[in-house]
Amino acid sequence: MHLRGDFRIMNCKEARALFSEFYDRELNQEICDAVKEHLAECQECKEEYKNFRKGLKILKKLRVLEAPRNYMEKTQRH
Ligand SMILES: [Zn+2]
Repeated sequence: MHLRGDFRIMNCKEARALFSEFYDRELNQEICDAVKEHLAECQECKEEYKNFRKGLKILKKLRVLEAPRNYMEKTQRH
């Protein structure tokens, strides 16, 4: 990974490695933009991110059933 370099040039591997932080909005603006830009240009990663989000939603649903309080704390942070 070359995160210290030019964030705008991001390859698929780097973009996908950041999906989780991107989804949770834990990235700084610069890196967030780079991921966004990559998703806008790369159909494959766009699909991949869609699947990633789908997977997370299912995961969260499962977590609601298992631990509702924990889920509430997480959503309120947004
Ligand atoms: Zn890509």
